Amino acid sequence: MSVFYDSLLTLIYPQACQICQKSVERQADGFVCADCWEETPIFNGNETLCHKCGAFLLDKPSHFETFCRRCDDDFYDSAKAAGTYEDALLTSILNLKHKPFVPKTLGDLLLQTFLDSDFQNSDLIIPVPLSLKRFAERGFNQAELLADNLARQINLTVDKTSLKRRIHTEKSRRGMDRKSRMESVKNAFEVVSPRLIEGKKVLLIDDVFTSGATVSNCAKALKKAGAETVYVLTAARAV
Ligand SMILES: [Zn+2]
Ligand SMILES: [Zn+2]
Repeated sequence: MSVFYDSLLTLIYPQACQICQKSVERQADGFVCADCWEETPIFNGNETLCHKCGAFLLDKPSHFETFCRRCDDDFYDSAKAAGTYEDALLTSILNLKHKPFVPKTLGDLLLQTFLDSDFQNSDLIIPVPLSLKRFAERGFNQAELLADNLARQINLTVDKTSLKRRIHTEKSRRGMDRKSRMESVKNAFEVVSPRLIEGKKVLLIDDVFTSGATVSNCAKALKKAGAETVYVLTAARAV
């Protein structure tokens, strides 16, 4: 807990926006100024996203359920993100990997995405777990911070113990194609208390949806344990 307070104490406003260097006037905006938040591509219904994985497909709405088809074999039922992994979302998420602080603007975007989704019948929230090694290095799990922040506002329980990451994957998976990413997290997750998961609609939370390999493999473990539905909610979606 001390790491949390320490990082709060160092956030004194106004500070320089990490994108444009203008001053950040509102603590709510975190590390990025209001103008840069304004510039950030947030999904608002005026675009077409894959009906299953939430991939951005078209910059105008569609009257049909549209699918990207790349996610056909993914194990989750539906995935949604607040916006694309650029600008203020990118900067805020990169900060979240080092500083355990969820700016209100970021938290509100995740909340709004949840409220606009059909995930509201979720029974519980599960943050994507880190391996023990990564958790020890970082001191906290950024997905748990987002999950706690959301849970407080929608009155759902956060289950941080049922899903475990048993394989430590190397930090950089950049340059890996989708197939090798899939391979690197295959069977990386397991459910240690299936009776808490069985028959449940699970809302899986992560900071960023990149290839979908991580959340799909979490969903695979959850479904194997009897989860009825697995929804995926992330702050951002890689383009
Ligand atoms: Zn700025
Ligand atoms: Zn898709």
